[in-house]
Amino acid sequence: MSIGQWSEYINTNVKEIPPSGIRKFFDLAAEMEGVISLGVGEPDFVTPWHIREACIYSLHKGSTTYTSNHGLLELRESISQYLGNQGVRYNPQDEILVTVGVSEALDLALRTVISPGDEVLIPTPCYVSYIPCTTLAGGVPVTVATHMEDHFKLTAGKLEAAITPKSKVLLLCFPNNPTGAVMSREELLQIAEVVRRYDLLVISDEIYDRLTYTGEHTCFASLPGMRDRTITLNGFSKAYAMTGWRLGYAAANAEFIAAMTKIHQYTMLCAPITAQISAMEALRNGKSAMEGMVAHYNRRRRLILQGFKEIGLPCFEPGGAFYAFPYIGETGLTAAEFAEELLVEEKVAVIPGDVFGPGGENCVRCSYASSVEDLTEALERMGRFLQRRR
Ligand code: PMP
Repeated sequence: MSIGQWSEYINTNVKEIPPSGIRKFFDLAAEMEGVISLGVGEPDFVTPWHIREACIYSLHKGSTTYTSNHGLLELRESISQYLGNQGVRYNPQDEILVTVGVSEALDLALRTVISPGDEVLIPTPCYVSYIPCTTLAGGVPVTVATHMEDHFKLTAGKLEAAITPKSKVLLLCFPNNPTGAVMSREELLQIAEVVRRYDLLVISDEIYDRLTYTGEHTCFASLPGMRDRTITLNGFSKAYAMTGWRLGYAAANAEFIAAMTKIHQYTMLCAPITAQISAMEALRNGKSAMEGMVAHYNRRRRLILQGFKEIGLPCFEPGGAFYAFPYIGETGLTAAEFAEELLVEEKVAVIPGDVFGPGGENCVRCSYASSVEDLTEALERMGRFLQRRR
């Protein structure tokens, strides 16, 4: 069978989207020995023991069935309380949907609100799924580049300049992957004002909401007038080191949740019951374990920022998530060249910033969810690499 023989059978939207730029680097790094990877966007901690124990106990008791399409009511009640503490009330009965990770919630949200040709405003650099998922949902991604000079924040002016009569959705992500940027309540209020004026919907991916180091997180839906025009996405992967459990949720007005549930019930049925029971334990009793992990990330954040300063790599101070996004423009290399040469010469894996969209061209993403030893060694290797280019 020749390659490409089945190409005409493949959906055109699927054909057009490129494979993830991150994957290519993982594959390259996986073939080499002694690589320190600052590439993965994943906690290096194991899920806290009491959460794993709740899972084991649930299996012991025989909790092995489907749940309601919406997810276990008790879990939805805990989520409602969690969001309530952030200043926004959702009815656990019909305003919260438990999903298979934020990944599923994002896909459902986009497919629910986009009609063919609708434009989705996406501040970039952004999480690698946003643009392809928008295309797959039939929407048109419109990127709004943010830059290091603005600390990678979205400004009302930049947003307004990108709005057209076809604009329907703004896809926000603060704290941000890949930049680590955060936005204050005052800054988000200015965005909310534009959202209201142009009658936009907002999908707000707040998966890093607990991972903030320079101030409290503001839930976008908690801003005046924003609750009913926002779909809030959140999950357990980052805050509780539960990436492999595949659990997240969406919270929105009952009409959006009912529409999202229609897709979810036919495509996914429900999220896994074991993960749901464990997530309940995370929300009820996981605060101190989570805060312990966040304190570790913060120490490593300071370590990597100090390290970059010492080796002469400019980097804006990220206020959240677990990524640093240093500027590599002064090396004269493109981000892809920098990442490739660093990997080959010094066996340190970072991700070239351009894979995250406009604004990331002269930066690389370094995850600091790695051990202090690995970070220290990686910084030493990066220092050597830069020295050779001076
Ligand atoms: N949104 C962002 C911004 C992310 O960084 C990630 C994971 N890297 C996801 C969503 C997907 O998370 P989940 O594991 O909950 O599907």
